[in-house]
Amino acid sequence: MEPLVEIDHVDKHFGELHVLKDITTTVDRGEVVIVIGPSGSGKSTLCRTINRLETIDSGEIRIDGTPLPSEGRDLARLRADVGMVFQSFNLFAHKTVLQNVTLGPIRVRGLSRRDAEARAMELLERVGVADQATKLPAQLSGGQQQRVAIARALAMEPKLMLFDEPTSALDPEMINEVLDVMTELAHDGMTMIVVTHEMGFARKVANRVLFMADGAIVEEGTPEDFFTHPRTDRAKDFLGKVL
Ligand code: ADP
Ligand code: MG
Repeated sequence: MEPLVEIDHVDKHFGELHVLKDITTTVDRGEVVIVIGPSGSGKSTLCRTINRLETIDSGEIRIDGTPLPSEGRDLARLRADVGMVFQSFNLFAHKTVLQNVTLGPIRVRGLSRRDAEARAMELLERVGVADQATKLPAQLSGGQQQRVAIARALAMEPKLMLFDEPTSALDPEMINEVLDVMTELAHDGMTMIVVTHEMGFARKVANRVLFMADGAIVEEGTPEDFFTHPRTDRAKDFLGKVL
């Protein structure tokens, strides 16, 4: 079976800055790939190209064998198939928690309000915030808001979930409640690409680690390999600072 995500010789510049340098990798169905690396190495840009929040200069990205669409209805479908969770929650501030989770399924997937709400409540239950359904995001803790953001992405029944430093903006005591939800999702077989500095989580949950530096994938391997036998000085230096 072909991989779910194929990233094939992708290059991207921001003006003079070469932010993605010949990135080639694949992600299999059910695989959890953790992306780590120093700030500015291109991790967020890579994530954003996968659901086409950023365009690429050359190369190709395919999801489920289909090259990324560039516009219109196909693009909306792609965004629904690829759930994204950001550092800064990005919930709709003036909608309730329940509305945050039902909006996409009603508009993009064409669910009835009733079905969307039933499904949303199941998901809110799953991430442990069902009792917050009628509140506005600002009334929730950061950890709760991020769990709502995960439920909102899951409500679209994505094939792939992208997480870009989902716990970086959280107070320390809330990090684990979000990582626990992500761990469960991984165990349930979701295909995930996760940018994170949480090395314990990476070690435990990753099938594969990509280490990026200066826009390139510098090392790629099992967590065991990467964390115990980093090959390059860049990776050794990075791990020396974060572990
Ligand atoms: P990371 O997520 O690894 O910290 P990013 O992908 O955010 O790295 O950024 C990679 C490089 O691209 C950085 O030098 C950053 O300043 C630059 N960059 C990111 N987004 C933009 C943008 N929209 N315009 C110009 N430069 C950008
Ligand atoms: Mg980033």
